Amino acid sequence: MAEEGLIVTGDPGEAHTVVLNTCSFIGPAREESHGAIRELVERKQKGDLGAVVVAGCLVQRYKGTLARQYPDVDVFAEISDYRELAKSIKRISRGESHQRYLEGPGLREPKREGARLLATPGSYAYLRISHGCDHTCSFCAIPSIRGKHRSKRPAAVLEEAEELIGAGVKELVVVAEDSTAWGRDFGMELPSLIEGLANLDGDARIRVMYAYPNRFPWDLAPLLADHPKVVPYLDIPIQHAATNTLRAMRRAGSGDQVRKILDRLRSEVPNLTLRTTVLLGFPGETDEDAAQVADLVRDYGLSRVGAFTYSPEEGTPGYDLEGSVPEDVAIARRDAVLAARDDELAKTQTAAIGTEVEILVDEPPDPDQGFVVGRAATDAPEVDMVTFAHAPDAEVGDRIMVRIDSVDDEQNWIGAAVENGARPSPEPAR
Ligand code: SF4
Repeated sequence: MAEEGLIVTGDPGEAHTVVLNTCSFIGPAREESHGAIRELVERKQKGDLGAVVVAGCLVQRYKGTLARQYPDVDVFAEISDYRELAKSIKRISRGESHQRYLEGPGLREPKREGARLLATPGSYAYLRISHGCDHTCSFCAIPSIRGKHRSKRPAAVLEEAEELIGAGVKELVVVAEDSTAWGRDFGMELPSLIEGLANLDGDARIRVMYAYPNRFPWDLAPLLADHPKVVPYLDIPIQHAATNTLRAMRRAGSGDQVRKILDRLRSEVPNLTLRTTVLLGFPGETDEDAAQVADLVRDYGLSRVGAFTYSPEEGTPGYDLEGSVPEDVAIARRDAVLAARDDELAKTQTAAIGTEVEILVDEPPDPDQGFVVGRAATDAPEVDMVTFAHAPDAEVGDRIMVRIDSVDDEQNWIGAAVENGARPSPEPAR
């Protein structure tokens, strides 16, 4: 869009045209997307906004029905060619006629599509390494929306990373639908890419998200343990801990295998912070099955956990399964897991009080009190905790040592920058 001469802002309040990137893979995501569309349409009707563009997965999945549902939306764009989208928006900004519905050109090629303009604060950037997924988890609509797995070539990923590092990015957050599968379509494995990224010039660190547990590429372990530029953090979505439920979900591996993978990660990467996500209330799940998830959270001291209730998705094999779990039961099971998580989280966060932790500054000092918002290695952007640190002289992208003084109600750390701070020595958050 910037290449088309449009001025891009992260503040919808000051934009003439808002582009809403939607998500549709589960019911709550769809509800959130519809709520956001309604809000934008209302703003347009009041005259606060010039035009509304709805893009992304919701459009891809529901095609024309969405266009009929929201006559006041100016453009709908499937997961499409960014350049076409930018051209349409330019035509809108000039008051010219434009196509209202942009069909996707088919599955996106796993290649770069022009330079990046960062939508993140500048201290970190997401780096997509592949598109799509070859797994067939029975609850998941993503492969039908995003297609089969296609890896980006290493040269393309490294070039994009170099550009981002050159623009001042200090943390590259590696994302994909299934990052574990990267490279297998051309005989490579994820660790070689991660090592290549970590060995680029500059001081950006690499954080790996969305690693499917089975066929885990174990050469990643020494990089996580020892490479100074690979964050000792791994997001590994396990979805469940009970063999019955994993089988019904068509996930590879059993409850025992999940535990073995976590054991091996713990032993090969002693300083690792593990993050995972789990799904409760899948058809056929019993109280005992659900209890195994909470037990696993306690047994492994998992403090970074997202827990969700199952949402039956049309077009997925899970949709018609018998043994559906009532919503209130699923919510109670999820809450039990979250309660176990919160206990572990409180322990890890409180244990750091009095220690010094290095954080990456994501937001500049607030003008009143001089507190920055940053993150330690233990926390990924947007999904984990942040650290509020008194550091009036710090800038976005700085790495500063912070003495942790307390935790707030949401278990974020609160502290102050220390000058010439010693290297940190707290226990890793588990
Ligand atoms: S691995 Fe993830 S994206 Fe792929 S089908 Fe399973 S849940 Fe969906």
